[in-house]
Amino acid sequence: MTYALDVDGVDKSFGGATILRGVAFAVESGSTTAIVGPSGCGKTTLLRLIAGFEKPDAGTIALAGRVVAGGGWVPAHRRSVGYVAQDGALFPHATVGANVGFGLPRRARTPARIAELLEMVSLDPSYAARRPDQLSGGQQQRVALARALAREPELMLLDEPFSALDAGLRAHTRRIVADVLAKAAITTILVTHDQPEALSFADRVAVMSAGRLAQIGTPREIYSTPIDVPTAQFIGDAVVLSAHVDGSRARCALGDVAVAANGVHGNARIMVRPEQIEVSTEGAGVSGTVVDVEYLGSEMLLGIRLDTADGDVPERVTVRRFGATTLTPGDRVGIRVLGRGVAYQA
Ligand code: ATP
Repeated sequence: MTYALDVDGVDKSFGGATILRGVAFAVESGSTTAIVGPSGCGKTTLLRLIAGFEKPDAGTIALAGRVVAGGGWVPAHRRSVGYVAQDGALFPHATVGANVGFGLPRRARTPARIAELLEMVSLDPSYAARRPDQLSGGQQQRVALARALAREPELMLLDEPFSALDAGLRAHTRRIVADVLAKAAITTILVTHDQPEALSFADRVAVMSAGRLAQIGTPREIYSTPIDVPTAQFIGDAVVLSAHVDGSRARCALGDVAVAANGVHGNARIMVRPEQIEVSTEGAGVSGTVVDVEYLGSEMLLGIRLDTADGDVPERVTVRRFGATTLTPGDRVGIRVLGRGVAYQA
């Protein structure tokens, strides 16, 4: 199979500091991949290598079956790759039309084509006459996308393009961008800090950690069966407890919890998501005491200290509950885990 992008064994250092180590993954044509990871783990560096702004020290990068770096070199402007940076990087003194036109070959730089590109990103063609500072942040990002689309790239790289936008505008801009790219069937890679954004935007999520690719999979796989505890904690809220695993059961402070049999045995740690923990006042399952209640509008976070046998270290868990609750600190509750947890060898 020919992949739209095939990154294999890529290493990159700057001034003796290793930034990327053995990064390998492949992306199918027309798919959307989100790259997430803590600040400084090398996400932007990886995008810049794919775009051709940097050269890898080792490994290869191939676009649609053609090696462009490592054992051959194709410069950035010869790769069919679009790049939208965090701040859009528009030319501030040029009009919107001129910014978009910059992406077009000279003979195709017509008002009609520029209007068409602006319409693609849901902007009125009359905006062509404005300067970038006469547009909102979300509109500017859409101009940057129109400029990148003008080159008709096979691969679009988006480096945190929504991060400077406020929550409402961010969701709106993200939907427009996702729609445009899906309609044009452009293979897309999005770097983001925002885990819910990664899970909702992409077909596949790649989690990076300290220059390595920790895990790549569907949003569901990454969220429900993260490869290790740091990945679990990075991609969402996680309740992690020590446990004793026997086959597909884990004994822990939350009681006897089902786990997917994955070879983990004996002393282990178990991870469940807060929304898997059901709290009731009936006292079913394991019991505990509410120690704090945090109000977040649509949901509440309940801190609960679990009852433990004398001598055991008391475990405290945070549970998410949608809607209002009348529970207050000091209330006694029963706790049950829904679905399966994930076990990790201790
Ligand atoms: P963030 O999420 O904060 O943008 P990131 O995961 O995108 O981070 P990179 O921008 O790839 O991380 O940077 C990874 C590391 O490489 C950082 O420590 C950075 O300082 C370093 N770095 C990046 N580019 C260069 C360069 N040209 N010269 C020297 N060091 C660099």
